Amino acid sequence: MPAHHSRRLVCAVVSFMLPTLCLAAWVATPGHASPRVRNIVIMISDGGGYNQAQAASLYRYGRPDALVFQRFPLRLAMSTFSADESGATAGYDPFAAWAEFGYFLRNATDSAAAGTAMACGIKTYNKAIGVDLARQPVENILERAEKLGMATGVVTTVPLSHATPAAFVAHHPDRGAYTHIARQMLMESRADVIIGCGNPLYSDDASLVPEEKRDYQFVGGRETWDALVAGTLGGSRGFEDADGDGTTDYWTLVDTLDSFRSVAAGSAPATRLCGIPRVRSTLQQARGGDRQADPYVVATNTGVPDLALMTQAALAVLGRDRDGFALMVEGGAVDWAAHGHQAGRMIEEELDFARAVEAVVRWVERHSNWDETVLLVTADHETGGLWGPGTGGPEDDQPVFNPLENRGQGRTPGLEWHTGGHTNSLVPLYAIGSAAEGLPAHVVGRDRVRGPYVDNTGLASFLCRRLGR
Ligand SMILES: [Zn+2]
Repeated sequence: MPAHHSRRLVCAVVSFMLPTLCLAAWVATPGHASPRVRNIVIMISDGGGYNQAQAASLYRYGRPDALVFQRFPLRLAMSTFSADESGATAGYDPFAAWAEFGYFLRNATDSAAAGTAMACGIKTYNKAIGVDLARQPVENILERAEKLGMATGVVTTVPLSHATPAAFVAHHPDRGAYTHIARQMLMESRADVIIGCGNPLYSDDASLVPEEKRDYQFVGGRETWDALVAGTLGGSRGFEDADGDGTTDYWTLVDTLDSFRSVAAGSAPATRLCGIPRVRSTLQQARGGDRQADPYVVATNTGVPDLALMTQAALAVLGRDRDGFALMVEGGAVDWAAHGHQAGRMIEEELDFARAVEAVVRWVERHSNWDETVLLVTADHETGGLWGPGTGGPEDDQPVFNPLENRGQGRTPGLEWHTGGHTNSLVPLYAIGSAAEGLPAHVVGRDRVRGPYVDNTGLASFLCRRLGR
């Protein structure tokens, strides 16, 4: 790709197995304004705030900031608040947030409103999937990319029709309408890749369930599933042709671990790829056993891919499009573990997410480059109010926010949960790729602790501008 970027990102990645390497550096080079970026990858750790990432890094490396994305060259914060049904927003106050302990517990977004903000660039009400306050559909970034001839896809560790992937593909006033949303995603979108859980035939432990216990809601109902299995599921009228070649594109269903591996290795189907691993609600987090156990103490589900493999499969398909692609990848169960105050499983999920980020970085370095591809890593909101031991404060006094307690590599750090729900805390926003230089222009404030932050709606504006042309 051309050298006409005003700055050029020189990446010194040697191997992501080494935790200490210097990832990249910004080097100024003369030139013109950035052209359209070719590939966009946005990766969302659902519920993954600063301390979720730190907990995972402490466990894996014995250091709080050694995950691949924590070392990306551009590191900002992001506000996540949503609107209420009247359209009012409480906003984020970078001073009150640290002056009053209860502040971050109020006015939290859900994943639907947050996903819609990032995908469509609007503040909307909790539960809204790609619709505004008047419940009207708003174009999302993947639809914009489709219009430009790009390939698009979503990948998640939770059901494919869950809030975050739905917000990037579908439009519905209520996130809970899974059957309807899944049908929209599969039959009324032009997405080329949809990968996520929700397999009706399998349990949370990845074992076959008897017929009477099958639940088809996450995949759009029994009829949709049967057509998917038969290879006869295409788009509804007007959505038959996902890639614009004039013929109907049917979904190819991939569900076994081996088939995910072979797609990732390059034997991608000629048509659209729908990946639904053989497990119900999430790859690993919802499995049985002691949910409070330390990471990996309870044997993990076998026969299912991890997020990295599913992401590699998506990249193998999307990477073939000459016009580039836009891909959203979600680590969806970080949030679920955090709701349940399951520190061990939260760490497992955040590390699974980090490995998927590593897989994207490797793909870019092998098959693309950081001038034509931009990678954003963020969260839709923080879940659990996760802090170090001794955090808190009386309402009338200066609160204390303690860091997680490092207990060394392979050990769960000392931590405390302060809510069973979401918080209005800022979340991290990390970026790599030349195009990321445009991100600081979207900064809307400066936080006392986290530094400059953009708003989640700014992410959509930034991406839209990157797609410009
Ligand atoms: Zn949640």
